[in-house]
Amino acid sequence: MNLFEKERWINEMAEKFENQSPEALIELAVEKFPNITLACSFGSEDVVLVDMLQKVSPKTDIFYLDTNVHFKETYETRDRLQQHYGVEFVQVLPKLTLEEQAAQYGEELWKSQPNQCCNIRKVDPLTDILRNYDAWITGIRRDQAPTRANSKKVEYDTKFGLVKFNPLAAWTSEDVWNYIRNNNIIYNPLHDRNYPSIGCEHCTRQVAAGEDPRAGRWAGFEKTECGLHK
Ligand code: SF4
Repeated sequence: MNLFEKERWINEMAEKFENQSPEALIELAVEKFPNITLACSFGSEDVVLVDMLQKVSPKTDIFYLDTNVHFKETYETRDRLQQHYGVEFVQVLPKLTLEEQAAQYGEELWKSQPNQCCNIRKVDPLTDILRNYDAWITGIRRDQAPTRANSKKVEYDTKFGLVKFNPLAAWTSEDVWNYIRNNNIIYNPLHDRNYPSIGCEHCTRQVAAGEDPRAGRWAGFEKTECGLHK
């Protein structure tokens, strides 16, 4: 498929699957792109997708960006999921260790230059891993943030140069939690402690009642996204 044909197919599928279930879209994605991967951050949306993918295509690669500074609860959630499903998630590490980063850019870069820190520990490793695939699946939802409001269920990811499937784009947070409860899915226990959106430990705080669910990410900075999604 050349790029023109691919874009036409993407637009057709985005329209066709807009009102279909996430599972139906995942089936289409793995059938059309056997060389596909799921990005997992072990947040509520991603554990739903891990569960769905295990039912549809258990051999599909699932990777996570290991920034080395996730909460211990996040690493424990990873371990519990791996054990439960009998899978091993692909660990994607930054080129620089925390010590090398501190030596080159200064201590606690996340406090002074979070964009640079995210580039080193998330965006560059993501760029490298996605070069190995033709398509990826993500857990983004339209109502998570204004920056995600126009996400389609299928789109061409111009930033990373591959097809992107967002099976939960039309879901609300309530839909996600209904699926988790109804299917008894393993999830990060931090969600029960007022962490609706979980990133690295240094850049995530609890939110207060009534606050935006993503208010706990990079609090004190204008920043709202890692740079993984446009
Ligand atoms: S979320 Fe924070 S610690 Fe994690 S990579 Fe970005 S700036 Fe660094």
